[in-house]
Amino acid sequence: MATWEENVRKVVPYTPGEQPKAKNIIKLNTNENPYPPAPGVERALREMEVQEFRKYPDAETKPLVDVLAEYFQVKPEQVFVGVGSDDVLAMSFLTFFNSKKPILFPDITYSFYDVWADLFQIPYECQPLDDNFHIKIDDYKKECGGIVIPNPNAPTGVAMNLAQVEEILQSHPEVIVIIDEAYIDFGAESALTLLPKYENLLVVQTFSKSRSMAGMRIGYAIGAPKLIKYLNDVKYSFNSYTMNMTALTLGVEAVKDETYFRETLQKVINTRERIQKELKALGFVFQDSKSNFIFASHPKYPAKELFEALKESGIYVRYFNKPRIDNYLRISIGTDEEMDALVTFLKNYMK
Ligand SMILES: *Cc1c(COP(=O)(O)O)cnc(C)c1O
Repeated sequence: MATWEENVRKVVPYTPGEQPKAKNIIKLNTNENPYPPAPGVERALREMEVQEFRKYPDAETKPLVDVLAEYFQVKPEQVFVGVGSDDVLAMSFLTFFNSKKPILFPDITYSFYDVWADLFQIPYECQPLDDNFHIKIDDYKKECGGIVIPNPNAPTGVAMNLAQVEEILQSHPEVIVIIDEAYIDFGAESALTLLPKYENLLVVQTFSKSRSMAGMRIGYAIGAPKLIKYLNDVKYSFNSYTMNMTALTLGVEAVKDETYFRETLQKVINTRERIQKELKALGFVFQDSKSNFIFASHPKYPAKELFEALKESGIYVRYFNKPRIDNYLRISIGTDEEMDALVTFLKNYMK
């Protein structure tokens, strides 16, 4: 190894789901929303003036902060916006997890957490889910440097209820507790209602799943003004202009159209409920999903084989070759037609 190379910050990066180039595939591998963004988003995009691009965007991300503050009935000082919730979460790790004590998160969870912890040299300790992939709340009552938990959890789709989230908060007034609500709109209870009681709670959400805007990269955190101030201090020490003009403008439009939002959510939820029944009938086992994906296993057909056979036929789902979950498939909820194609394939395969 060359001398300079010894001092390189070496990281094992996060592996995102495949984004295949082929057009005629069924893509159920990255939890994207199968429906387009709200109609106002397209309208606003067409009306954008390219001439404006010569200027820097609004460093304070004000239009988006204001519309989110109004939507959630909080003060603008309680909202932080970033380049997808990945950016918001990474920034939060850097800002709030600065203790010598380990931070806690589940052993089976969003696989970016350990990557950020390693990158920022934050000690961490994974807490095992129980055999049904539920979080054991008592495991989170020990001394620690902070807590991050997705609710619903990914890739399991299992949700905690509000009382469980509050139990964790009650036992930890001394550290920041981040609840990653990437999938909250698909059926779990948001911790936002607990904000008035807990100054150390940070709720992180995203436009990528429920608002069909993964490509625009918009995420946000809501918390006490003090927390948001600390986050902004770190952001301005890093890059003042994280959000580009297009994302700021189009994000506002997505929030404005509540009717469209509720309609698409309901469609995804209805499809999920129907497909859960179909998969059960085919012998799959899984926990009840409160997200836009199903994390399923089959007692007779190994997940890896199913994953490869599906891919061969142009249906992409996600497979994780990791301890405890290497016999599971994470299947995102697509349109009814896409899910029917999946079920038809599985019926034929299992004949
Ligand atoms: C998808 C996802 C995110 C990040 O999504 P962004 O596209 O960066 O907003 C964060 N947490 C979990 C658990 C996710 O599944």
